[in-house]
Amino acid sequence: MKTIAIIGCGFSGTMTAIQLIKNAAEPFSLVLIDHPGHFNRGIAYNPSSKKQLLNVTAARMSAFQDKPDDFLNWVVGREEFTGIHRDVLANTYLPRYFYGEYLESLWSEALQSSIAQNVTVSIKHALATGMEVSDQEITLLLDNDEKVTAQFGVIATGNCLPGNPDIKNTGIFNHPRYYRNPWDAYAVKTPDLKFPVLILGNGLTMADTVLGLVENGFDNEIHTLSPHGFTTLQHGQPAIGYTAIAGEFHNNRQSLTDLLRIVIKHIRLARNQGLTAATVIDAIRPFTQQIWQNLTIREKRLFLSRLRHLWDTARHRIPSQIHDKLMKLEASGKLYLHSGKLIEITEDGDCLIVRFFDHQKQLTQEMRFSAVINCTGPVTDLMKAESGLLKKCLVNGILVQDELNLGIATDPKTFEVYDGLHESRRNLFAIGPLLKGVLWESTAVKELREQAEAISKLLINKIGQSSGG
Ligand SMILES: Cc1cc2nc3c(=O)[nH]c(=O)nc-3n(C[C@H](O)[C@H](O)[C@H](O)COP(=O)(O)OP(=O)(O)OC[C@H]3O[C@@H](n4cnc5c(N)ncnc54)[C@H](O)[C@@H]3O)c2cc1C
Repeated sequence: MKTIAIIGCGFSGTMTAIQLIKNAAEPFSLVLIDHPGHFNRGIAYNPSSKKQLLNVTAARMSAFQDKPDDFLNWVVGREEFTGIHRDVLANTYLPRYFYGEYLESLWSEALQSSIAQNVTVSIKHALATGMEVSDQEITLLLDNDEKVTAQFGVIATGNCLPGNPDIKNTGIFNHPRYYRNPWDAYAVKTPDLKFPVLILGNGLTMADTVLGLVENGFDNEIHTLSPHGFTTLQHGQPAIGYTAIAGEFHNNRQSLTDLLRIVIKHIRLARNQGLTAATVIDAIRPFTQQIWQNLTIREKRLFLSRLRHLWDTARHRIPSQIHDKLMKLEASGKLYLHSGKLIEITEDGDCLIVRFFDHQKQLTQEMRFSAVINCTGPVTDLMKAESGLLKKCLVNGILVQDELNLGIATDPKTFEVYDGLHESRRNLFAIGPLLKGVLWESTAVKELREQAEAISKLLINKIGQSSGG
């Protein structure tokens, strides 16, 4: 009997497993590997606070593309929402831990049906630390010293921790007042009040971290530092969208310059209708993966160096109630957003001293902080990642990074990873944020549920072929 091993069981790994069980055509074994705290939930849906919200409304968070109301139906059936109108719930940004519960309930249903589907499931509460791959077999080494052997593997290890900043004093990264992992509750629970806290980065994780600190009683100032210092934008009315740009995209390649012209034209048109530029970026979403794949490498590099910060600001927005809380903190002098460049972090007794060049004031500032929390977003250059597994795989030639070092080089149609010789491996697949370099949009539930379904169907086919079915 063939075995499929899934490494990492956040949304992507869990949904691949669920789709595999659902689509099973003949018997196979499924081995799922992740540590217990993250199993089913991953990073995103195992939040440090019950108040952290999804950044997508309930109506658009179904785990299944063919059942778009699945999450909403699950929510409507919950006791705590009794009496709330379905349409209100559909347009609500619900707490992220709820979504984790939803995933757990989907997994529990799938596990029950696995026996009838002839799928043998085994769960390893461990991390994979090493991998050996031949044409026939994949062997995984786990940190509990177990070995897993499978004929097929799916790498679903998701988002890496943020990369450490580019400073000379790298010893500071081991200091207890420097927090590399912003998703660990420890980061918002432990800073003492004596000095302000500095958050590196100014995106969605910054918003969670600021509110997490406040929720845990942190009453001193909170400062953020990012190259552009843009304020995180809020979502508009979920029901109001801009669609006119859709007709502009076609299958033929469009240059970055042409695309920019189209986007600028439609931002102007949208604004004339009272809509924001962000609604235009939302409208491009169904075409983004294709557009990205059609760009030349030079255009992709240009986009990353000149336009990425604008794209990210318009694309990754926060619910308005979170935005309001941040605005209030800013207005009351508790939150300061600096635009600048970090120069150095050093230690001085009970604080960290941070030097940065302030772009607005055009001078170097030096400030003392109780803690520095790194919210600069997951590192994509895997050689700078904390995970031993992927780095080892790159060094051993099992995997290669894509040409922009945004993730793993993978065939965008079959999800088979490429090896060090740029040949696709027929037995090893990748899913999720690791495909950013190949697809650009490969982060949200909307894309990942499609990938999970596609990979599971390809795998079921391969199992059928290899057993002569
Ligand atoms: C804070 C946050 C909030 C988000 N909110 C939303 C939202 O509201 N809506 C939306 O659509 N998207 C959201 N996203 C995007 C999110 O990336 C995806 O929705 C999805 O959760 C990604 O799932 P994943 O399984 O690919 O990765 P992850 O959630 O990162 O899961 C990867 C799993 O792999 C495990 N792992 C890693 N290395 C190993 C190893 N060596 N061995 C075994 N296991 C390993 C980890 O423990 C983890 O459980 C959010 C992301 C973040 C970070």
